[in-house]
Amino acid sequence: PTLPYDDQNIFAKILRGEIPCNTVFEDDLALAFHDINPQAPTHVLVIPKGAYVSWDDFSANASDAEIAGFVRAVGHVARALGLVEPGYRLLANIGMDSHQEVPHLHVHIFGGKPLGPMLM
Ligand code: 5GP
Repeated sequence: PTLPYDDQNIFAKILRGEIPCNTVFEDDLALAFHDINPQAPTHVLVIPKGAYVSWDDFSANASDAEIAGFVRAVGHVARALGLVEPGYRLLANIGMDSHQEVPHLHVHIFGGKPLGPMLM
């Protein structure tokens, strides 16, 4: 079972402007910002503005407009960062086995160097 949404999670605070972030892109439905602890030369997080715990919650419960807006935002950010030609990686952690740390859906965008094979 999915956890209830905790509006005190760090990304909820970022969305409310209570904690700063280094914004890459923002529109009505999505926000993208640099990860505070980057694991690649480019490491950006894209989050929907709606209160969704994870990809599971989002895919089951978000509106078609929210889903379309979020998917397009991820693609837009990758293009804007110049990652399409060299290539990049998307990753979303969902739940305990994945070690999801922040319980607000986020897609990681990694790029800026050859990333090597994905081992897990
Ligand atoms: P997860 O493990 O949940 O998929 O990833 C959470 C990510 O959020 C981590 O990569 C972590 O570095 C990042 N993160 C955690 N707290 C903050 C924060 O306050 N600001 C930013 N920009 N990133 C954060």
